Amino acid sequence: MIFAMTFDRERRKIYHARLMYARPFIDSLDFAGNARQISGEIPVAELPRLLDVLENPSGSLTYTVRGGADKQGNPLLDVGVTGTCQLLCQRCLGAMEHAVRINARLLLCDQASLDALESEVHLAGHPDEEDELDSILADAHLDVLNLLEEEILLSLPIAPKHELDVCQAADGGNVHQEEKNPFAVLAKLKRS
Ligand SMILES: [Zn+2]
Repeated sequence: MIFAMTFDRERRKIYHARLMYARPFIDSLDFAGNARQISGEIPVAELPRLLDVLENPSGSLTYTVRGGADKQGNPLLDVGVTGTCQLLCQRCLGAMEHAVRINARLLLCDQASLDALESEVHLAGHPDEEDELDSILADAHLDVLNLLEEEILLSLPIAPKHELDVCQAADGGNVHQEEKNPFAVLAKLKRS
């Protein structure tokens, strides 16, 4: 009995450690105030919302999040993401390698400032360049991967398509040849 309980506690500790590694959380204001930095690599397969729009889960992304402040001393996060993922070509529905290159500066705001900013944008548009920075809620328990996933999703092209010379759908010859071959059709049916 005692043995079982100890075992369970040990297991939980290991699970917790793995979870912490996979999903880093930061206290965003503390992180910015102390100019902290976090970086790592995430397999695309671990980002479920991104996965929804991809052709397949291969690829991985390297990220860096740096805390800091702008000229006025407002806390912010500088987010960088590079890597590749496999988008779905809207013409042939095949996989299409996409290079992710993100450099985003995100101001940390409380909810009241975010609401004010939103009505300001609605009323007057962007008065100056500083206001064109994206703002996010200054969360004391910010889910870093969730933030990165959002930035990646925002950066993706709306209707990605291969260049014509490499797109399967544009290669009429191959498509017709496959359609004429009854075995190819059978093989296709079997696969699906
Ligand atoms: Zn294509």
